Amino acid sequence: MANSKFEYVKDFERPDYLLPNTWVVVRIDGKGFTKLCAKYGFEKPNDKRALGLMNAAAKAVMTDLTDIVVSYGVSDEYSFVFHKTCTLYDRRESKLVSTVVSTFSAYYVYLWSTYFPDMPLAPPLPSFDGRAVCYPSVQNMRDYMSWRQADCHINNLYNTTFWTLIQQGKMDATDAERSLKGTLSKDKNELLYSQFHMNYNNEPEIFKKGSVVFRDYELVEPGSDNVAEKIDDLAEPVNQSKTQAENDKKRRAKARIVVEHLDVIKDDFWDRRPWLLSNKPGKIPKQT
Ligand code: ATP
Ligand code: ATP
Ligand code: MG
Ligand code: MG
Repeated sequence: MANSKFEYVKDFERPDYLLPNTWVVVRIDGKGFTKLCAKYGFEKPNDKRALGLMNAAAKAVMTDLTDIVVSYGVSDEYSFVFHKTCTLYDRRESKLVSTVVSTFSAYYVYLWSTYFPDMPLAPPLPSFDGRAVCYPSVQNMRDYMSWRQADCHINNLYNTTFWTLIQQGKMDATDAERSLKGTLSKDKNELLYSQFHMNYNNEPEIFKKGSVVFRDYELVEPGSDNVAEKIDDLAEPVNQSKTQAENDKKRRAKARIVVEHLDVIKDDFWDRRPWLLSNKPGKIPKQT
């Protein structure tokens, strides 16, 4: 029975369940960070404090949301990958996206002073937008991750060269942009080396590769056991018993969440960490 004559308004809400049995990627991106960088004097092209803050907020999101298996961050964006079997909020898109965005934003602001102790935040405060995209196969999801990491590489090489021309070459932005127009990767590498004795390969991994966040278990020797294929062969998610699901959740909560700057394009990253695709917690490494 209706509680009041007003309750019919609930029927105006539209269902927004994400496709079942697909990898859900929620990507968040900082709003107007070009301005925010200028306001707080981020070092160009890469401010390590700002990257550290993004990574800390992403770690906090993954600690809160155990259905996220891996996340990848670069610049002012972070992509969070929910396992295809995830049933959080019955896979309602607005619930998932808004929870990720608000958790991330809240931690970003909460942790700001740890990374920028001398620069108190003042309005307009940092905020983030978010979207969800469903990827039906492991290959699509991995290609998504590869796309973001390739973007990181291309942008970072460009930005590194652009800012070196300005900071060390004393060019203005217009001239720097003109010098780089139509150049290929090898031209930028060459320019950095010949004019500034700078070897791009020696730049910090966090700048070149971005950051990947995941639960850390004992690495597995890559073998013939192809988890990716098995995962994709499932017609529908396996129905785990409640006890098993609870146990997995506890083991996930015990695992250390790490931030690394690894290549996620090559197979090795995924082969050695089968838990990312299987969502079965691995062995907790022994403390040394
Ligand atoms: P929008 O609201 O449309 O996202 P935006 O100004 O945030 O606008 P983006 O395309 O997201 O535009 O670009 C983010 C900007 O923030 C880039 O210029 C990038 O170089 C800068 N930025 C992000 N993180 C850092 C960092 N750690 N150090 C230096 N600059 C950064
Ligand atoms: P909007 O919020 O309207 O979608 P956006 O600027 O946030 O616009 P995204 O779709 O979030 O764009 O794209 C994020 C980044 O991916 C861009 O900053 C760009 O580096 C890259 N990108 C977007 N579209 C393409 C494309 N078609 N080809 C290559 N790179 C792209
Ligand atoms: Mg942005
Ligand atoms: Mg961005």
